[in-house]
Amino acid sequence: MKILVIGSGGREHAIVWKLAQSRQVDKIYCATGNAGIAEIAECIDVDVTNFDALLDLVKYEWIDLTIVGPEEPLSKGIVDAFEKEGRRIIGPTKAAAQLESSKVFAKEFMKRHRIPTAEYKVFTSYLHAEDYVRMKGAPIVIKADGLAAGKGVIVASTVDEAIDALRLIMKERVFGEAGNKVVVEECLKGQEASFMVFTDGKTIVPMVSSQDHKRVFDNDNGPNTGGMGAYSPTPVITEEIQSAVMDTIMRPTIEGLRSEGIKYKGILYAGLMIDNGQPSVLEFNCRLGDPETQPVLSRLDTDIMDIFMAVADEKLSSIDIQWKKEASVCVVIASGGYPGRYEKGKIISGLDEVKAMDGVMVFHAGTAFNNNEIVTNGGRVLGVTALGRDIKDAKDRAYEAIRKIHFEGMHYRKDIADKALL
Ligand code: ATP
Repeated sequence: MKILVIGSGGREHAIVWKLAQSRQVDKIYCATGNAGIAEIAECIDVDVTNFDALLDLVKYEWIDLTIVGPEEPLSKGIVDAFEKEGRRIIGPTKAAAQLESSKVFAKEFMKRHRIPTAEYKVFTSYLHAEDYVRMKGAPIVIKADGLAAGKGVIVASTVDEAIDALRLIMKERVFGEAGNKVVVEECLKGQEASFMVFTDGKTIVPMVSSQDHKRVFDNDNGPNTGGMGAYSPTPVITEEIQSAVMDTIMRPTIEGLRSEGIKYKGILYAGLMIDNGQPSVLEFNCRLGDPETQPVLSRLDTDIMDIFMAVADEKLSSIDIQWKKEASVCVVIASGGYPGRYEKGKIISGLDEVKAMDGVMVFHAGTAFNNNEIVTNGGRVLGVTALGRDIKDAKDRAYEAIRKIHFEGMHYRKDIADKALL
């Protein structure tokens, strides 16, 4: 079969890497890919929101199945566009993807279906929002309604900080239309974890658990990023908590959408806060998480094509998904300055040396070719991912691999997975 993967980050490299292991896959295309993906797939330079161009590619290359990595094409209706043309694609429709693309939709949906989440109010008026923040006090969380590349959430520790966030979103409109509405939300405490499931709209199968590290510096200091590393499994998700997440969050969400006439097919991700054994939803994503996908898919034993075909054909109940017992740790290497300004085009060395290491995968994110050299081309550059007997072993192996890699200004956290080792 011929497969098209949409996206260009570490998540998509992990998907392509897993697809390449399937005996059912003859050729992989990736729009737009990166230097690592280019080793195993044909990279095509097409805008991932240009659905006509992507459909042309699928038709002319006789592509059997498309898998969507990032949220933007999903939220703009790529699945609707492909299905209208009778093309197979993995991901939720535009209506279903609102769980991620509109925080107001997600919160109101959770309220209607009694899915545990932080208390909140929605505002379209800056003055009303400001009054509410003053009345509630800090800490408090301000969220722009729409997609804001992971920057639209401000966890404010003072009232001034919260009001500053309201002003930036609602008056200065730094996120444009994404800030037409704002959610002001109670600040939850506890431990965060990521929980992802495969679903065909009827059957829901959990993946192994994971935890990411959003802040740029060690000990969760500094600004939020797209994610500086992740590991799997996480001790935060015990068997009891997994059952609670399935019973109180995942099933009610898929069934609740169905009761509203929306079928959800693909991957559903819940960002959770767990306090006293009780999970609450911080956010939904309608696709695989990045970087969580890297450690999670490295533990997948089942042929990923069996899973994707079962999702597409709505036969997920007929397969038994197997995972490796080993643990996995992914450490992201970023460009110096990220998530602020950073330079591109730095030559990356040491990648061949790491290739010789058993059980270590270097998933590329912001990389490109320049005169036969691999150079940096984004904020998050590489996700060095290692399997090990346990978290400690996987962590040691990931950092051993990192010591072989170099580019000017590179930055990575030294404490990925430490939360699992306390
Ligand atoms: P992503 O890039 O993962 O899509 P996002 O922009 O959708 O992120 P959220 O994941 O909703 O943002 O929030 C970002 C972070 O803010 C969370 O990981 C969590 O640390 C914190 N956060 C969000 N909501 C709350 C809350 N109600 N209480 C405490 N912390 C919160």
